[in-house]
Amino acid sequence: MQFCVITIFPEMFTAVSDCGVVGRALNDHLLSLDVMNLREYGHGTHRMVDDRPFGGGPGMVMMAEPIVRCVADAKKKLPGQVPVIYPSPQGKRLEHADMLRMSSLEGMIIICGRYEGIDQRALDIIEAEEWSIGDYVLSGGELPAMVLIDAIARLLPGVLGNESSSGEDSFANGLLDTVHYTRPYEFDERAVPDVLMSGHHEEIRRWRLKQSVGRTWLHRPDILEKLPMNDEQKQVLEEFQREYKDLENQK
Ligand code: SAM
Repeated sequence: MQFCVITIFPEMFTAVSDCGVVGRALNDHLLSLDVMNLREYGHGTHRMVDDRPFGGGPGMVMMAEPIVRCVADAKKKLPGQVPVIYPSPQGKRLEHADMLRMSSLEGMIIICGRYEGIDQRALDIIEAEEWSIGDYVLSGGELPAMVLIDAIARLLPGVLGNESSSGEDSFANGLLDTVHYTRPYEFDERAVPDVLMSGHHEEIRRWRLKQSVGRTWLHRPDILEKLPMNDEQKQVLEEFQREYKDLENQK
């Protein structure tokens, strides 16, 4: 998958290109990341890419012309028809299903807004898809762009390798992930749950499922409501709820 990012802060993208899962995937050529500096398309000696808003008001607006020209060049670098994504608090909120769909694309162009945002005419001309990472406002689209790249990269074949898989992560099967423990066995007078030390694979699987369903009930009842649960899931949920209520009563 080929990502092409348009930004006035290209250096920010070393956070994904030089580190962790995405950095490794780039080294292994499982994806590519081309970061274009919008300033190179800016106007005048100062390479201006923003100007004051028509109608007055605070802040600056990113000018249409540099963006339209930069997107046209970006398109020449990518195969076929790729979407132009504009991370924006006004877009549809990104969810796991959207990341999954996007992970099957050949590539995408991501244009990072700054200031008050982008001149609407540019967004109309480049037919930008607006996507939000949550109901709050950040100073720029670079962090949301990195959120997209990281979340999509994890879903690409080979990126996580055999040792871990996104199939057991939260949302992959509609539920939140189970709980995890590692060494030492006891920490701060808290021991690891007995079942995980039992070596009994079936009991461990069922216990993990119970934590997964239970945590989804506790933290995200909204997604549990929409999930058609099978008999085992219903059963472990009832157990979890009973155990949870017993613990609450002991407090
Ligand atoms: N005036 C805009 C508004 O209220 O809708 C906010 C502009 S924001 C300061 C600058 C840029 O940050 C936006 O153009 C967008 O690219 C990015 N951004 C901010 N919050 C975001 C969010 N929740 N999701 C995705 N992108 C966001």
